[in-house]
Amino acid sequence: MSRRKLIAGNWKMNGSLAANQSLVQELLAGIGQPACDVVVCPPMAYLDQVRQLLAGSPVIALGAQNVSQHDNGAFTGDVSASMLQDVGVRYAIVGHSERRQHQAETDVHVAIKAQRALAAGITPIVCVGETLREREEGMTEFIVQRQLAAVIHLGGQGIRDIVVAYEPVWAIGTGKTATPEQAQAVHAVLRAQLRAASDDAAARVRILYGGSMNAGNAAELLAQPDIDGGLIGGAALKAPDFLKIVAAAG
Ligand code: PEP
Repeated sequence: MSRRKLIAGNWKMNGSLAANQSLVQELLAGIGQPACDVVVCPPMAYLDQVRQLLAGSPVIALGAQNVSQHDNGAFTGDVSASMLQDVGVRYAIVGHSERRQHQAETDVHVAIKAQRALAAGITPIVCVGETLREREEGMTEFIVQRQLAAVIHLGGQGIRDIVVAYEPVWAIGTGKTATPEQAQAVHAVLRAQLRAASDDAAARVRILYGGSMNAGNAAELLAQPDIDGGLIGGAALKAPDFLKIVAAAG
């Protein structure tokens, strides 16, 4: 089964009303009819602005960078999956390493978040990845399998509808990219883990690579058999670079 590639832009905590407007306008003007799915994930505060700028674009979808593990109620500062769905969000990043590190999110939190998103009809982009130390200690497979196992365990049939993003922590925002061979090796491990859960999930689930993917290295990474797209940080803030990555996924 061939999987349509997905290019997702994670704007992180960047942007302003003015900067978002020019970025989205440049993206819409340059994107044409891409051969892949495209999503942009602005900060929560700007979701509605970006939804309006996208104006129902059939080409660029709206994503969130996080979702609460709780349902609606007394959770000050949280944003629930049903609220995200209400404002037009179709994808939500869960378990980004920056949240695992700075917000102490555990595998269980991430699995619950993925569940909440799925229940609201939002596609969770589940991030997994090892630190440099874990890689050097030969722990890469163990770490990514443990992180994905929590989501598979809670997800049941729903896992066929998730997206996985392999993001080696040492490659995020550092300019160090995993080589296509290093990335493919981990993607193959994740694919096998999905297959052990369900053939259907293994065939359908897109596994993105993230970590300093840019206009120069995207094509080679995206040519790997188990790399089904990219989760892009820094390069997603520059329309020409992001558009080149989208074109490389075609
Ligand atoms: C990310 O934050 O998900 C990411 C991949 O960042 P960068 O592309 O900047 O490494």
